Formats: sequence, structure tokens, C-alpha cells
Amino acid sequence: MIIDTHTHIFPPGVRDHRESYLERDATFRELYSNPKARIATAEELFESMDEAGIDRSVVCGFGWTDAEICREHNEYLLEAAAQSDGRLIAFCTIQPSEKGARDELKRWAARGARGLGELRPESQGYSLIDSDEADLLSWAADAYDLVLLFHASEPVGHAYPGKKGLPVEQLGRFVADFPGVAVVGAHWGGGLPFYALMPEMREAMERTYVDTAATGLLYGPDVAARVIDLIGAKKVLFGSDFPLVSQRDALRALRDAPMPDEARPLIEGENARELLRL
Ligand SMILES: [Zn+2]
Repeated sequence: MIIDTHTHIFPPGVRDHRESYLERDATFRELYSNPKARIATAEELFESMDEAGIDRSVVCGFGWTDAEICREHNEYLLEAAAQSDGRLIAFCTIQPSEKGARDELKRWAARGARGLGELRPESQGYSLIDSDEADLLSWAADAYDLVLLFHASEPVGHAYPGKKGLPVEQLGRFVADFPGVAVVGAHWGGGLPFYALMPEMREAMERTYVDTAATGLLYGPDVAARVIDLIGAKKVLFGSDFPLVSQRDALRALRDAPMPDEARPLIEGENARELLRL
């Protein structure tokens, strides 16, 4: 089973009224002001999955600062997943600083959310260090068996729209504070795997995964083998970042990347199947 654990779809209303959402959200503006930045819906994702030979996709929300837009987006994701015959798995987003966030989490979990993401604490205006928001997220992950997918920002290297979102030191602190929570650090965890060479971080990262989203835009093909050396192939999940990267190209690049053969089926689907209990 091939599982893409990192895709983005939006309600058709966001695509059709892009301008109004650009005005309402600074991070959305940073990522989608360029008219060439594609906004895809569930229909386009299904086409892409058929073309690329992908069986399941995790569809992610967006770290909107306005809780109301998070809700609107979640409704669409859960509806799309419910009608997908199991092909789509919904990860919702919430604004954890909002008063009703706890009840929202209950509600989305009951409606079938399997995770939260792609979370961007910095963009949404909270920190993961000693914060009520971090406590709330870890509580929800624990109570409802949710996976937390965080955008992770490399502290070095070239700038790109949406690079900021979560400094890697905050991600490291979160997994150390809540080692029992299943966490995915997007984009190879922004460098976090290196710190698994520290014994206490290796222990803290027992349930920490990284995904391969947007690899070609960030790293050379050797990143896979190096990260497998650091944290093991069981901690790496295939994610494309569709539609920023096409699923077909992402899967092809992964298959072209040098790595031990036994790692391939794990990364392409087995790890995600286990993590998401499919
Ligand atoms: Zn991201």
C-alpha cells in the first residue's frame, strides 16, 4: 500500500475566492499570493493519486490564524474523507489559543480526524515551549489517538515562502516534553534527526517521525540514506506536499534516491499504515 502522508487540499471556496483569503491570513498570503501557487481540491487529488499509483493520502488543513477558517476547512476535509472509500485520511487544524479549542478537538476527533496538521505554531502565534497550547495538543493527541504533523523550519539554508512555522528547537523541546505523543516533523524534521545522536534525544524521539515532503526543493537525494542512518527507516514517512510537488514526481524521486532496499516498503506505506492504524 502506497501512502502519501502529506498533501494539501482546500475547499473550492478558498480557490474561487483566493483574494479574500489572502487578505484574511498572513501565512496564506505568504504561500499563495503567487498566482502560480496551486490550490487543489479533492477531485484533483484523486486524479493525481490514480496517475501516480497512490492508494491513500493524508489530506491536511492549514495553520489559519482565524479559528473560523480552520473550522470551514476541517468540514471540507472530513467530508471529503468520509466520501472517499477510505482513500483520504483527514488531519484537521485548530487555533489552540482560542477559548473553545478543547471542545473543537473533541468534535473533530469524533468526526473522524486521525491527526492534526500541518500545524504552524509560529504562524498561528503560539509557542510549543512551556505553553498551554503545547499541553492542549499533547492532551488531544493522547486522548484521541491523533498524530501531530508539524511544519518544521530549517534554521539554515535558502529562504522560501512558508519556511518559518516552527523553529526546530521548539519541535525538539516538544518531543522531549511529551515523548509519548506521535509526532511527525515535516520536511525531514527541519534537521531534528541529527540530534537523535544525543542519547536523551534518541529516547525522547521514540515516537517521532519525519516526512519527505518537498524533498527536491530542499535537499539533495542523499538526505534519505543519511536520515535513515540517524533515526532508522521505520521513522520516515513518504509525503509529497502535493500540489506544491506532484505525487508522481515525489514518488519517483524517492524511488531514485539511494537507500537500503528493505527501507523502501516501510517508507512508501508500511510505517504510515501502522502509525495511522489502517
Ligand atoms: Zn510544510
